[in-house]
Amino acid sequence: MQSLNDDRDNFTVLSPIIISFLIISLMMPSCRQNSEKVTTGEKKLKVVTTLFPLYDMAKNIGADKAEVSLLLPPGVEPHSFEPKPSDIVKINEADIFIYTGKFMEPWAEDIIKGVVNKNLIIVNASCGTKMIPAVFHDSAEPAGSLDPHIWLDFDNAKIMVKNILEAFQSKDPVNRDFYKQKANDYANKLTELDTSYKTALATCKNKEIVYGGHYAFGYLAKRYGLKYLSAQGISPDAEPTANDLIKLVEQIKKDKIQYVFYEELTSPRIAETIASETNAKMLMLNAAHNLSKNQFDQGLSFFDILKRDLDNLRVGLECQ
Ligand SMILES: [Zn+2]
Repeated sequence: MQSLNDDRDNFTVLSPIIISFLIISLMMPSCRQNSEKVTTGEKKLKVVTTLFPLYDMAKNIGADKAEVSLLLPPGVEPHSFEPKPSDIVKINEADIFIYTGKFMEPWAEDIIKGVVNKNLIIVNASCGTKMIPAVFHDSAEPAGSLDPHIWLDFDNAKIMVKNILEAFQSKDPVNRDFYKQKANDYANKLTELDTSYKTALATCKNKEIVYGGHYAFGYLAKRYGLKYLSAQGISPDAEPTANDLIKLVEQIKKDKIQYVFYEELTSPRIAETIASETNAKMLMLNAAHNLSKNQFDQGLSFFDILKRDLDNLRVGLECQ
């Protein structure tokens, strides 16, 4: 009788702990869906990525042991991208599929549910990254969303590299040290890039980025202590309101801002309007979602783009 009571006492003490553990486990986002089957290390891994930063990371980690492809066609704006049936077939035939996360590619969750290839490893690259709330300009945008442009915080980019590395190692354990070395090299380059941003942006006369595009640089601005004003919310689909534009123009005049930045892959029409109203000059700031056909042909890397951005930020924010 006594032992039964003891058991019951133990049960009542333990059960809330067990329950909270179960709740936490259920709430944990799934970073990677693993397959049982591994490769022999002789065949190239087939890797499909959605956005350019993931493509660049995977290409560098996999090097000559992987065949990495980018789902977005060159020049396509990624927020409005919808995969074609042939893309879904391509994902199903891959060894590894890498996407940024549900806020960047809302369509990916449906594809994952429908995947029939049991040997596919699916990587949610945002897993474990520190995300910030999205900034909206349009009431139609969903509440509670997080900013999907995680690669523009270079600590987050390192976590993305780690998530991708683990998938390569799990799929091809024979070459795990090779992938580790390549991922370390990439992470070191991210540290160097971060240092050059920190050093250069600490010296700017102006600390305000005015962007005639969508809200893509929230992470970068936060990381380097800059203010960031954008004409649109987190997606370039929504048109800015006349009121948004008037506010931006007033801010530029008030703060005597000399440069307006414009984005890649979409028309710089909004930045042009702001520039002509304020006599500000225009400079490109590329959020690296995707490359144009021309940039692909030139073989531009993530680092090339981010270094050019820093050059333009130095001019636009009047840094030393
Ligand atoms: Zn974006």
